[in-house]
Amino acid sequence: MKKVALVTGSSRGIGRAAAYRLAHDGYAVCVNYLERKDKAEELVELLRKDGCEAIAVQADVAKRAAVDAMVKKTEEALGPVTLLVNNAGVAGQAQFQDVTDELWDRYFSVNLNGARNTIQAVLPHMLHEKSGCIINVSSIWGQHGASCEVTYSCTKHALIGLTRSLAMELAPSGIRVNCVAPGVINTDMVKVLGDEVLKDLAEQTPLGRLGTPEDIAHAVAYLASDKASFITGQVLAVDGAFIL
Ligand code: NAP
Repeated sequence: MKKVALVTGSSRGIGRAAAYRLAHDGYAVCVNYLERKDKAEELVELLRKDGCEAIAVQADVAKRAAVDAMVKKTEEALGPVTLLVNNAGVAGQAQFQDVTDELWDRYFSVNLNGARNTIQAVLPHMLHEKSGCIINVSSIWGQHGASCEVTYSCTKHALIGLTRSLAMELAPSGIRVNCVAPGVINTDMVKVLGDEVLKDLAEQTPLGRLGTPEDIAHAVAYLASDKASFITGQVLAVDGAFIL
């Protein structure tokens, strides 16, 4: 069966590295983005130059109709999705008393409902084929508490619950569901914290550095591969031992 990967939020950061790695592992890849069409198209162009098959599709994962349309476009252009990587996410810091309804709803809509939307859109084909792989990108803050990131942490804990429960439900159908939990990874998401804070975070990481998007891409590629064919419902922390 043709290998087709949909990586949400793959115009930048971790998603971009995952899409790049999967394309070079032989997947035809849908590069999803929200706003940065330029970045998504730049990646698609690079992948095509390398002889890989790729398309860029805009969709806000929080919107079910947009996700359904993206999956349809992917199926028409590349074929049915055999690997889904739920990577698109939003983060930010706020004290809990300042968390507005809008912020709470948006984080849940993107980080959790986004995964629900994409999974439900690709599942019919996976169930029909009795095969498929889903990888959710959670966070170390989905395994541990995070002061001033309560909303984010709640969404990432929920993604782990989704992973474990869905893995049990889908295992008899031959579909694996796993999670990666990145530590502090050097992307635009954390660059807003500033150089000083990032230096401190690198020092707090026992392996002595920030993670790279490629560190996470390697873990995603492993979980997607046949080498992980007996692994489902697991959370793989890729964090340089930031949290043990
Ligand atoms: P990033 O650099 O901020 O990139 C975010 C990506 O997601 C971009 O491609 C963005 O698209 C896309 N995106 C955002 N909202 C979207 C939406 N509603 N629909 C579709 N795409 C959307 O983030 P990152 O650091 O690579 O993080 C990727 C994932 O890893 C997130 O789930 C994050 O929570 C998780 N994570 C990150 C870290 C870290 O330290 N960086 C740690 C743990 C977990 P545009 O380019 O179009 O804006």
